[in-house]
Amino acid sequence: MHDGNGGEHRQITKVEFRYPLLAILLLAAIFAFTSFAVGYDQGQLLSMVFGDQAYKENFLHELFHDTRHALGFPCH
Ligand SMILES: [Zn+2]
Repeated sequence: MHDGNGGEHRQITKVEFRYPLLAILLLAAIFAFTSFAVGYDQGQLLSMVFGDQAYKENFLHELFHDTRHALGFPCH
């Protein structure tokens, strides 16, 4: 673009983008919850609904454990 004086102008547009803090915190909470459910739950989550029976059946633990094996993950 010429300015009529023989010089040349260039326009540079910088866009600054930051992820919203709330989105980061929400994703961190989802990550923590999911990691616990997939990797560490021994009946705690379902015990809120089914009581002590959840510890005996260990449904989520077995579900994710069987899923790991189905996917070929060498967990033990
Ligand atoms: Zn296993």
